[in-house]
Amino acid sequence: MATIGFIGLGNMGGGMAANLVNTGHAVHAFDLSGAALARARDAGCLPAASARAAVADADVVVTMLPAGRHVRAVYEDDVFGAVPAGALLIDCSTIDGATAVAVATLAAERGYRMVDAPVSGGIAAAGAGTLTFMVGGDPAAFAAAEPILSAMGKTVIHAGAAGAGQAAKICNNMLLGATMVATCEAFLLAEKLGLDLATFYAISSKASGQSWSMTTYCPVPGVGPETPADRDYQGGFASALMLKDLKLALEAAQAADASVPMAATAGALYQALANAGDGGRDFSSMIRFLDGRTGD
Ligand code: NAD
Repeated sequence: MATIGFIGLGNMGGGMAANLVNTGHAVHAFDLSGAALARARDAGCLPAASARAAVADADVVVTMLPAGRHVRAVYEDDVFGAVPAGALLIDCSTIDGATAVAVATLAAERGYRMVDAPVSGGIAAAGAGTLTFMVGGDPAAFAAAEPILSAMGKTVIHAGAAGAGQAAKICNNMLLGATMVATCEAFLLAEKLGLDLATFYAISSKASGQSWSMTTYCPVPGVGPETPADRDYQGGFASALMLKDLKLALEAAQAADASVPMAATAGALYQALANAGDGGRDFSSMIRFLDGRTGD
């Protein structure tokens, strides 16, 4: 079993660190938030006084931080030089590919193995240990990371070289953002055309219009399996995080000269939803926004 330094114990990292503890690893944990650190201690992690202290004896470092600037700062200021030589570094945050490659390059220059390993699955999957990991890094680093990631997820896929995990993540979430907007539109039109929404769900979830956004994460309360729609769009995957991921996709598309008009439209809609005060609601609350209901 490994000694793991875990930095970033928020909505996702808290559950992930607990699953590492549950599979027998020693987890030295740090977060800037005292409340997050206390929850991690209750889950069996060993709270550290700083990020440097958390990684001081680690074989493996796992980070789950908000965005690229946090990841770069934590590795440059706290991890490099503090963690023992030869350690395996795993960043699970969703960040821009350029920062992921830059940090991996700095790690390699210092003799560390590193993978980018962003996740799909949300807070419930982080708690249940059923995340999907998409991993970028060389094959040896992937092989070393796989057993650690398997303790936190049910699917671990090698996407390619450094940065490829982030590329897969933003392409996946670009698709998710667009299908959610389209699904919300379809339900609103179905209602205006006089269809019973449960009946429309029964038809479309078995017909060519089906997608994960409809079948597994239906934006209409009381229709399909239980989703954040049934909890007034609380919890789940915040619209602000979807907006962040769409911005990452648009930046990547601009750099790669790729045409992504659907992502641009979805991004503009999620920006407007956030501006209307619903950035904290689940991203399926797009249906309220398109229906002219926000902020209540
Ligand atoms: P969060 O804001 O709940 O957690 C981030 C944690 O990082 C916070 O507890 C914060 O205090 C801590 N932190 C920030 N800077 C730090 C530093 N310098 N040192 C130590 N701790 C620091 O966010 P989250 O929902 O857990 O998301 C984390 C990442 O996972 C993001 O990149 C997000 O896009 C991605 N993600 C989230 C979900 C989801 O459903 N929430 C799903 C997939 C991917």
